[in-house]
This record gives sequence, structure tokens and C-alpha cells, in this order.
Amino acid sequence: MNYDKNKYKIWNWKSPVILHWIINPGLVINELILGQTIPKVMLIERAGNKPFYQRSLVPCPHCGTFHNGLKWSSQNKTAFKNWFGYYCDNCKEIIPVHRNLTSLIILILTFPVWGWFRKSIRQSWLNKQPERYRNINLEIPEKKNTTKNWLKSGLFFGLFMYVTMIIIFPLIEQKEMTQKSLLIGIPVWLICGLAWGYTMKVWMNRKGK
Ligand SMILES: [Zn+2]
Repeated sequence: MNYDKNKYKIWNWKSPVILHWIINPGLVINELILGQTIPKVMLIERAGNKPFYQRSLVPCPHCGTFHNGLKWSSQNKTAFKNWFGYYCDNCKEIIPVHRNLTSLIILILTFPVWGWFRKSIRQSWLNKQPERYRNINLEIPEKKNTTKNWLKSGLFFGLFMYVTMIIIFPLIEQKEMTQKSLLIGIPVWLICGLAWGYTMKVWMNRKGK
């Protein structure tokens, strides 16, 4: 599909946020377990005084609807469980999403296990979707913009990455977990987490030109 480049900034795999999604191995947990994902194409409205959240659109390649990005968000309880992609509540098709490289490798390696059930799992997932999109709220709650909130989400992200990278990954790879790595990990992921939280806050509140 072609989109109006003057009206929208187009986000595809070359955009930093999406590239990060593809490359960061830690996000494999978000994707395979929590079912968080990112659409193949996102459009960001260039004009408008609205914050980022409300200017981001997800086009459905099947029916051409431009969905508000908030349709798949934690406030609507639809940010997770999107293992097969974003469900389009207009045409009932699935909007294609990006795969994290690590989870792609895991999926390929484990295909002999889940491949047999693929169709039935997908169908039962699909059956559950309409219910999830019955009451979608596209307004942003005020509290999203407070300092406490970005601190909290930053700390949470840092903690999450710390546990994943310093504890879970070495366990999976059967590497030794040293006191040193446990200690060094704390300031590293604390700083990364806060930087992440702050960047997200700035990003999400950025207004269009
Ligand atoms: Zn659609």
C-alpha cells in the first residue's frame, strides 16, 4: 500500500523503535510469552497538536482502515496476547507484525513441536478476538503524563531487563552467574530503565508540527 508521505511519517523496519524491537533479544519474552508486538507499518500524523499516542495510526492492509494506535494499548487491555498479529476489528483479518529476531529463531527451531497445532491455535485465538475489541477507548487518561508514571515505567522496564538479561539468559545458556555480573547489572539497567522511561515520556508527548 502507498501512503501519503507528506501527511504521515511512515514507520517501517528502518525506524529506530521498530529496529530495536527486531534486534533486542530481551524482547523475546514480551513477544513469545506476553504476546506484545509491533505492526509492520505505522503512520505518524505529521500535523496536529495532539500527543504522539493520538497521532500514531496502524493501517490495515486488508480493508484499508487507519486504526488509532491506542486500539492496541494497555488501557484497552489489548497490548498483550497479540501472538498472531494485530486483530482488525473492522474486517476481522490480522494486521501483519514484525518479529523479534531471537523469537523468530526460537519459533523456527521449535516448529516441529507447535507446527502441527498451528492452525487450531490460531483459530481459537482468532475466535477470542472480537470480544476483546468490543469496548475500545481511544482517549488518553490524564495520568499518563505525570512524572511518577515515567519513573515507574522506567524502573519497571529496568527491572524487567535486569531479570531477563542478568538472570534468565545466563540460566538458559547455562553460564555462570557471578556476584560481579549481578552487581554491575543493577546500575546499568537502572540507568537504562530510567533513560527508557524518560525517552518514552518525551516521545509520547511530542506534538506534531
Ligand atoms: Zn481490516
